[in-house]
Amino acid sequence: MQLKHVLEVDQFRRSDLDHIFAHALTMRAIAKHGTDNRLHDKILATLFYEPSTRTRLSFESAMQRLGGQVISSEMAAETSSAAKGETIQDTVRIVESYSDVIAIRHPDAGTSAAAAGVASVPILNAGDGAREHPTQALLDLFTIGDELGRIDDFAIALVGDLRYGRAPRSLAKLLTQVNGCRIIMVTPPGIEMAQDVLDALIASDVAFELESDLSAVVGRVDVVYMTRVQKERFPSEEEYSAVQGRYQLDPALLEGLRDDAIIMHPLPRVGEIHPGIDADPRAAYFRQARNGVFVRMALLDLLLNNQSQD
Ligand code: ASP
Repeated sequence: MQLKHVLEVDQFRRSDLDHIFAHALTMRAIAKHGTDNRLHDKILATLFYEPSTRTRLSFESAMQRLGGQVISSEMAAETSSAAKGETIQDTVRIVESYSDVIAIRHPDAGTSAAAAGVASVPILNAGDGAREHPTQALLDLFTIGDELGRIDDFAIALVGDLRYGRAPRSLAKLLTQVNGCRIIMVTPPGIEMAQDVLDALIASDVAFELESDLSAVVGRVDVVYMTRVQKERFPSEEEYSAVQGRYQLDPALLEGLRDDAIIMHPLPRVGEIHPGIDADPRAAYFRQARNGVFVRMALLDLLLNNQSQD
């Protein structure tokens, strides 16, 4: 497959997903035995204008596991020239001469696409505002495949902040590429999934329902995908407080969950999942986070090995 940038989930067709996931399994085998040297002459730059633990460190780990080097601006809003007023386009024109691939996280939707518009190296969208988190969606679907043994014919509950959460938004859009998926969206009023995503699901014949009672849903699905209420994106503290803490998956609620179902969360969690269920074999969120390394290794390898063919 020809992969030039990773900017949004809509760029991926089913055949691309199958290819990326197969490659991620190869990467997992590499990681199991240590490292590989295939990207020994490449440098990844990570430009993060928003907080991150998993995405940035797993990108950096992925690059290093393939023998590559990393340069990093982890608080770029405060410590890069953005603080002096430099545009992302100018920053990228500079950083591309220091690196072979750039991962960007930014609070503004469309920043990675703007960067890709001027970049001569591949750009990875590591989260742009409330809009997209494509590498998260890829690792989420990879995890579903790994845990359930299939990426078709399953039911998933997307729970929590579907309005401002870029992870569930990107995942829902990616689910247009699988067959026989049913989505139950569980939200309090006010933070429902945006209409453009619902329209995309309708256009692709993905069945979905809207719910507000989590306990009525847990026994009906193969995947419970919990999310954090995105405090930083709410217009006011009052609006955030009105919906925060509405759903918590705890041991009592878990009794309704099927034995072969799994629990996912893009993390960080801030109360949505009681730590008392971490030891439950159905709790897949730490395995999900680990899969981020393998999927990002696959993406880096595909992006950088395609360069010579451009
Ligand atoms: N880590 C994910 C993201 O960056 C989820 C979250 O922050 O709640 O979107």
